[in-house]
Amino acid sequence: MTKPVPQPGIMQIKPYVGGASGIDGMSNVIKLSSNENPFGPSPLAVEAFQKAGHALHRYPNTDHASLRAAIGKLHGLDPERIICGVGSDEVITFLCQCYSGPETEVIYTEHGFSMYKISALAAGATPVMVPERERMVDVDEILKAVTPRTSLVFVTNPGNPTGTMVSRADLSRLARELPDGVLMVIDGAYAEYVEGFDGGASLVEKFPNVVMTRTFSKMYGLGGLRIGWGYASAEVIGVLNRVRGPFNLSMPQLDAAEAALGDHEHVERCLRENTRLRAWLAEALAALGVPSDTSCANFILARFADADEANACDDFLQSEGIIVRRVAGYALPNCLRITVGDEASCRRVAHMIGRFKGVTPATDDSNAEEGAS
Ligand SMILES: *Cc1c(COP(=O)(O)O)cnc(C)c1O
Repeated sequence: MTKPVPQPGIMQIKPYVGGASGIDGMSNVIKLSSNENPFGPSPLAVEAFQKAGHALHRYPNTDHASLRAAIGKLHGLDPERIICGVGSDEVITFLCQCYSGPETEVIYTEHGFSMYKISALAAGATPVMVPERERMVDVDEILKAVTPRTSLVFVTNPGNPTGTMVSRADLSRLARELPDGVLMVIDGAYAEYVEGFDGGASLVEKFPNVVMTRTFSKMYGLGGLRIGWGYASAEVIGVLNRVRGPFNLSMPQLDAAEAALGDHEHVERCLRENTRLRAWLAEALAALGVPSDTSCANFILARFADADEANACDDFLQSEGIIVRRVAGYALPNCLRITVGDEASCRRVAHMIGRFKGVTPATDDSNAEEGAS
C-alpha cells in the first residue's frame, strides 16, 4: 500500500523550539528567554491595534503601502523595495522558497538562527553550516564554503545568540566577494539596538544581491503580533511578492506596526534602558565569574565553565522562577542566553546567579525584595 510522502527535506526538519514561557506550579515567573522588550510595545501601537478591532469584517489592503511608506520614511529607504511579512521569519521563508531548492546549498553560520536551516530544508535545499571563530561570524569561512550550488548566505548581525557583530569592513567584503548569483541576507533583527548601524541598508543600495531583513518583534515589542520586513533590489522584491499571500498581514498588524514606528520616544527610552542595563548585567555577571562577549543586542550570552555548570545554573534559576535560554542547540552548550529585562529582573537574575555561584550569601538586602514581592 502506498501512502502520502512529504517532499524531500521536510522530515529532516527538527521543529523550532521557542523560549519557555512558564514553569510548572509557578505563577510569578521572570521570562528572560525570548529577547522580548521588557517595556512592551508603544501605547500608540496598542491603541491602533484596539481601534482596528472595530473593522474586522474588512479585508486588509494587500500592498501594505502605508506601512512601507512609514518604514521608508523612517529609515530613508525606497518603499517600493520593501516587502512586509508575518515576522521576518516569513521573509526568510520567501527567500528560501524563491531562491533555493533541490540541488542548491544555503549557507548559515555555526551559531546562526535555526530558522535558516528549517526554511532551507523546507525548500528542499541543502543547508551548509560554516564554523564561527570565538563566537564571531568568520567571513573567510563563509567564502570558503561557497560552491557553484550556493544560492543563499544568511548572516545575523548582531548575532543571536552570540550578540557579537561582524565589522562594517568584513560585511562589505563579504558582499563584494560573494559571486553575483548568490543572495546575501543580512538578518538585522537586533539592528535597532546598535546606534549608528543601518542594518545593512547601505549594502543593499550598493549590491543587487544583498537583502536586509528586519522585525517588529524585538525593539518594537510586537513579537506576539508577527510583523517583519525585508529590503532588497526591486527585482528581488518583485520575485518575493509573487509567493507572498495577498492578505499575509492583517489590518491590526499593519496598523499597530505603523503606529509603533511613530513613537520615537518609546524606542529611545527602550534603547537607553537596554544599553544601561546590559552593561550593568554584563559587569555584575563578570564579577561573579561569568564572562560574556560585549553584546550589541538585547541579551547577554553568559559563559560557564562547561555544559554541566550552565545546565545546573539554568535548573537553579528555574527553581527560583527565572527562565533563561539554553543554547546547546546553537552549539553553545556551556552558555545561557539571558534577555536584558527591566531593572528589577536584571538585579534578580544577577543576584540568583551569585547565589548559584556561592558568591552571594543567601541572606542579604535582596531578601527584602523577595519579602516585598
Ligand atoms: C527574533 C529574531 C528574528 C525575528 O523573527 P520574527 O519572525 O520577526 O519574530 C529574526 N532573526 C533572528 C536572528 C531573531 O533572533
